[in-house]
Amino acid sequence: MSAQETSGAQTLAFQGLVIGGRRVAAADGATFDDLNPATGQTLCTVAAAGVADIDRAVTDAGTGFAVWSHTPGAERARILGRIADRLRAQRDALARLEVLDTGKPIAEAPSADIDSAADCFAYFAGIAATLSGRHIDLGAQAFAYTRREPLGVCAAIGAWNYPIQIASWKAAPALACGNAMVFKPSEQTPVTAGRLAELMVDAGLPPGVFNVVHGDGAVGAALVRHPGVAKVSVTGSVHTGRRVMAAAADGLIPVTLELGGKSPLIVFDDADLDNAVSAAMLANFYTQGEICSNGTRVFVQAGLHDAFVDRLVARTERLKVGDPLDPATEVGSLISTAHLERVLGYVDQGISAGARLRCGGTRLPGPGAFLTPAVFDQCRDEMIICREEIFGPVASVLRFNTETEVIERANATPFGLAAGVFTRDLARGHRVVAALDAGTCWINGYNLTPIEMPFGGVKGSGIGRENGWEAIEAYTRVKSVHVSLSGVACPYGQG
Ligand code: NDP
Repeated sequence: MSAQETSGAQTLAFQGLVIGGRRVAAADGATFDDLNPATGQTLCTVAAAGVADIDRAVTDAGTGFAVWSHTPGAERARILGRIADRLRAQRDALARLEVLDTGKPIAEAPSADIDSAADCFAYFAGIAATLSGRHIDLGAQAFAYTRREPLGVCAAIGAWNYPIQIASWKAAPALACGNAMVFKPSEQTPVTAGRLAELMVDAGLPPGVFNVVHGDGAVGAALVRHPGVAKVSVTGSVHTGRRVMAAAADGLIPVTLELGGKSPLIVFDDADLDNAVSAAMLANFYTQGEICSNGTRVFVQAGLHDAFVDRLVARTERLKVGDPLDPATEVGSLISTAHLERVLGYVDQGISAGARLRCGGTRLPGPGAFLTPAVFDQCRDEMIICREEIFGPVASVLRFNTETEVIERANATPFGLAAGVFTRDLARGHRVVAALDAGTCWINGYNLTPIEMPFGGVKGSGIGRENGWEAIEAYTRVKSVHVSLSGVACPYGQG
């Protein structure tokens, strides 16, 4: 990390692509500016990859793959472990970079972003050392075994809300299995993926195994279509997921799609009120509400509804919105003023549709993209604010009466990323999550994503899982090998 980046300065050095283990400018010299969303000022100038750069990155990744895929798992594990150590050693500096680039509060970034990235490399380091196939007994005359093999060069594309976490959740399992990767971060948050690549080389990762190309959706689209790519993993919107999957279909390559959501958080009458309110706040206002799995449809049973809303509003009004670098800040800046305008549009829509805005929904004056967290009650399922992903600090509270009714309403969405249930009735908790169309569920909690637990969605929220053993399956293929221990039994031409 340069002195400029650790000194507290608010501008960063030029951010090159990382290809073959080195920082490089784009072949044609093209650049774009990356803004600090909290100030609206330019944070840094970034190399904009063109077709030649993408081709070079995939080619270098192929060279890296030839080395890395033949590196023993135990050695891969040691290197991944050192990456985890370096992430922890640089925790504060990396967290600060993430805050400057995303606008999220510094109170969150060290743990939610950097520790999550480090945990991910540590977890998959453990698996790298123990990856193996199976022996299959076929009697005295034969046996079979399976080899779990890497796929090749994986393309990975990230969203802007958790840049280094997304890069790590994709890179760590892919690399653990012996793959190489070309990663494209969001053009709005390019900084920490490059830092991660540098730190990997420092930890001993061979050049070319992890490469970073910068640019917009067109760069992502060109990367996905490159014939040297064997797999694609994308975190982004449903729209992007569809386009990536269509492109991957042409090359018949597998996809992991982590897409958007409109997840239900269901609070039954018997829930612990304070815990449920705390979860609803975390599920709507953490990272300014810019979290895919957020529980933005808060269903509260009639008996607890009014007390719940009063408590939620009272606590939400006390949230401190402002300078992301201030340790006391609880809600930072949205990613851009364009996104803020979108979110404000949803607030207006909620009001005009007849929902009651109980607090928030106001833009803070001055630079940046700050919005006070909003709580709507008197919402109805058909309102746009209850159907579309807002990706900002806007909670919609919906009243319900029975378990059967709330399950049906919670499932009445094209999304299926996550869901939460608050109840003291253990049987009901398990019964309800079993009935919900969601890939990731929490009982008496929300948005907890330990690396050990697979994460991902169903329906419009995506395909495949990140983290846990499931991520290993996503980055490997199984080869079956039959071994004969006797002669070939062939009747042909024997007379
Ligand atoms: P986008 O879908 O706009 O972008 C995601 C990434 O895909 C960006 O790097 C983008 O480039 C790139 N991209 C855009 N078009 C294409 C294309 N045709 N081919 C390949 N790549 C492309 O999402 P946002 O960045 O706006 O992120 C917000 C969305 O991400 C929300 O819907 C959110 O729910 C979802 N998300 C899902 C998560 C999950 O795990 N399920 C986690 C976090 C977010 P660029 O933006 O640089 O132009």
